[in-house]
Amino acid sequence: MPSQPTRPALAAARSGSPVPATRTGTSRRLLVRGSLAGAAAAVTGAPRTALAHGAARRAAGVTLRWFGANAWELSFDGRTVLIDPWLSRFSTTGPDGRFDPATPLFVDRAAIRRHLRAADLVLVTHGHYDHMGDVPQVLEQFPAARVVATQTHAHLLTAIGAPADRIIWARGGEYLAFGGYTVQVLPSLHSLTADYRYFAPGTLTAPPGRVRTVSDLVEGGTLAYQVTTADGLSVLNIGTANLIERELRGLRPDIAVIAVPYGGATHRYLERLLEALGAPRVVVPTHHDEMDTPLDRPVRADARVLRSFRDAVHRVSPRSTVVEPRYLEAIAL
Ligand SMILES: [Zn+2]
Repeated sequence: MPSQPTRPALAAARSGSPVPATRTGTSRRLLVRGSLAGAAAAVTGAPRTALAHGAARRAAGVTLRWFGANAWELSFDGRTVLIDPWLSRFSTTGPDGRFDPATPLFVDRAAIRRHLRAADLVLVTHGHYDHMGDVPQVLEQFPAARVVATQTHAHLLTAIGAPADRIIWARGGEYLAFGGYTVQVLPSLHSLTADYRYFAPGTLTAPPGRVRTVSDLVEGGTLAYQVTTADGLSVLNIGTANLIERELRGLRPDIAVIAVPYGGATHRYLERLLEALGAPRVVVPTHHDEMDTPLDRPVRADARVLRSFRDAVHRVSPRSTVVEPRYLEAIAL
């Protein structure tokens, strides 16, 4: 999976525990900068002064949009960077009600066409289906876009139809200049279950013979990314709940999009992450939703886990504002 291997817990929580989407009305645009008016209900816990932090580095017209899981669109200066753009959102629940690793891969081309408007660059955090499964189709839809991925991801992508010459191989540590913005590629780690494992580990040094089921898309190394605009606004994405603390120390992102932990065996994940980053002006939880909910429905997630996430952020990084995303909603940074 599933970055959060305990998704069955989410399924168990299905009955009436949606994300506390406390905003009312149908506005699809959520302002994070400037006045809290109109966004107060979704921006939880931080005092107004928190929004002044990093004010000098705010840029006009920078927006984030969420497509569930860890699928994000970052738009700025007429450019679009996509992170783990997986929109197919098919169910992986088998007849027994549990996660079925033999679930065939499926690409919802209509959803990708409907929701994605542009792409200059695609950033892949790891090879699992819910992060990388739609990337070939995204590259087909946006012929000028390139993708950053590890060697294993590159082999998997090639096997499922991505053009090899549009894949930028990365190991973590790269600091890439794209004319008008930069991308720091950060070595990272996949989230761990309680028994110190994760779904479909593996590395490849050549394209695999056949990629048919969700288990065929192996993790293949995990990366995190920090994108910095020409105006100096920086957005960090941690797409699965783990980190290499020393790789993040001193980054000081303005916006930190952080995978929500679901238990697991990593010592003080959120605490070490937030301490390493300083006090990001805004913290956005990611990869916390039930992944087969259509994007035109409300987010379904474990409210208890989200509350624990918010509490941890407020405790460790009290100057940060937590913004809970809603599907397709533009968050103005
Ligand atoms: Zn994963």
